[in-house]
Amino acid sequence: MMGEPKSNRKRILTGDRPTGKLHLGHYVGSLQNRVKLQHEYETYLLIADIQALTTHWDKPEMLKQAVYDVAMDNLAVGIDPEVTTLCVQSMIPEIAELTSIYGLFTNMNRLRHNPTTKAEALQYGMIHENGDLISGFDQLTYGFFGYPLSQAADITFVRAHLVPVGEDQKPHVELTRDVVNKFNQLYGGGKEIIPMPKALIGDVPRLAGLDGDTKMSKSLGNVINLADPPEAVKDTVWKAITDKDKIRKGDPGNPEICNVFKYHKVFNQSEQIAEIERDCKSGVLGCVECKGRLTDILNGMLAPIRERRRPYEEHPERVKEILLEGTKKARILGKETVRMVKEAMKIDYFVL
Ligand code: ATP
Ligand code: MG
Repeated sequence: MMGEPKSNRKRILTGDRPTGKLHLGHYVGSLQNRVKLQHEYETYLLIADIQALTTHWDKPEMLKQAVYDVAMDNLAVGIDPEVTTLCVQSMIPEIAELTSIYGLFTNMNRLRHNPTTKAEALQYGMIHENGDLISGFDQLTYGFFGYPLSQAADITFVRAHLVPVGEDQKPHVELTRDVVNKFNQLYGGGKEIIPMPKALIGDVPRLAGLDGDTKMSKSLGNVINLADPPEAVKDTVWKAITDKDKIRKGDPGNPEICNVFKYHKVFNQSEQIAEIERDCKSGVLGCVECKGRLTDILNGMLAPIRERRRPYEEHPERVKEILLEGTKKARILGKETVRMVKEAMKIDYFVL
């Protein structure tokens, strides 16, 4: 039924940075998939709060609420705490230990030529337009520059075999593979001390923003949060940019350039999509009705998510308990990993 017996299952590491509530982009881009995968694989879900501080170091006070939010978002979409181990990065010192060890043999260029950190450094104003990391060194922190290495530690502290990621995270998994390879070669004497992880690449395209931006993203302020009430979803859909030349019902529209139609294509059923396309083009369907239909679909999809969220909102202590229990369990693996790593490096001469 579930395939492999539990103990033989491969292990997955997945997670989120707690920088605020999760949105529909996260849902289609990663959450939906991880909910499915948790039944096939032994899943560890890391809330990467220290990594969140690599861009939000001046706002540590926002973390506590964001950790709760991200945990609740995951539980609300169907992450089952009986099946998945949820854990919090800042309570796992073994990740920090591994990060500093991996930093010993990872050269600067390996970190410098990472398209994802480059793009993000640009987004956060840490580097110049030309992607020049050198002239931006005064803005670029050691912690941010090195976060892919701490992600290698996230992946390997549980000795994960698979990492479900979107396209943007591929370079980080590649780096992790290089780190693991180098570690095993340097210190393993031909043995695989740390298992080689593999990216499980999701093939879902990025969800665009309803405002016409290429991406729904927290920092662009164009999100529909999973925790949004029905009215807020309606407001966001109402503000969506459609075809500017379709002013009133009756005007023929061009669905190909309409943001609302893009969403119908992602969230609606195929028969409906064909009908909407036809009726928009002929003018029979007006934007107001079309937006109303989309609002209903999104709210229909979000209703069970809101429902599952409510008991956790009412009892946040239950969420805390899930995180503490999960972190304790994850640390057992982390301690084992650090022991194996130190033994392989022959730096286990003293044991406290
Ligand atoms: P920020 O503005 O702080 O960068 P964000 O809203 O862009 O936040 P991230 O934390 O950068 O979200 O995203 C984490 C992961 O969630 C990404 O690696 C990606 O897999 C997925 N994701 C985020 N936004 C989208 C989106 N619009 N479509 C699909 N997947 C997304
Ligand atoms: Mg982002």
